[in-house]
Amino acid sequence: MDAAMVLLVDVHAHLDLFKDDLDGVIARAKAAGVKVIIANGVDSQTNRVVLDLAKKYDIVKPALGIYPPDALQQEVDVGDYPIQLKPYDVDEELAFIEKSEPVALGEVGLDYKTGKDIAGQKELFQKFIDLSKKLDIPLIVHSRKAEQVVIDMLDASGAKKVVLHCFSGKKSLIKRAAGKGWSFSIPTNVVRSEHFQNMINMVHISQLLTETDAPLLSPFPGQRNEPAFVLESLKKIAELKGLTVEDAANAVFQNYQNLFL
Ligand SMILES: [Zn+2]
Repeated sequence: MDAAMVLLVDVHAHLDLFKDDLDGVIARAKAAGVKVIIANGVDSQTNRVVLDLAKKYDIVKPALGIYPPDALQQEVDVGDYPIQLKPYDVDEELAFIEKSEPVALGEVGLDYKTGKDIAGQKELFQKFIDLSKKLDIPLIVHSRKAEQVVIDMLDASGAKKVVLHCFSGKKSLIKRAAGKGWSFSIPTNVVRSEHFQNMINMVHISQLLTETDAPLLSPFPGQRNEPAFVLESLKKIAELKGLTVEDAANAVFQNYQNLFL
């Protein structure tokens, strides 16, 4: 397949976790047909890295956010998110995010698996839901072991522009979120996940997006994930929707444009 023929978008990557070889990662993404990578921040420090990368690389666009802080602390402690945390003021960061004109707010949400400060997480997530409505830009939402609460909060707030990233909720919640018109981003590990394959079958093509969560969630065991691999999500969408990869890619890219531009 000719990469020039496909329009690929990766709506959720952690480019801050790539170090020396990011030039190569971006070059491989372009060669694969990736036109847009939305880099997501998780705290004050990574938000600034995201903004720098968006200035440096033409296909990178910035999403700024605050991942549930207690969950992030835990992930940093066990080495799952290899950065050094630095303290910052959350409300100052929210003001910084607002004036930095991100294309989306992410990564934000709730994580009851790794985090324990439920009240604090909900208070922070609500601030992002409100900011998303004020700025009229999408939320890129993390919802681990808190899918129902996330849906309830978004619904109660009348949120419209929502991307449920790597959503692991049960079928009734997928149906409810789809009924609200929200979007689901299909991660590259869909190649071996019955759950995400079911999601593709259940959700209309107009509400599907693609993501890698790179360098996490690789489609290839033992290999670091990178935005070029987003093609794997598209191949699975094409297969299950009975479309050519080109047609599936064009549909997903159109969804990206409708929601983000
Ligand atoms: Zn992520």
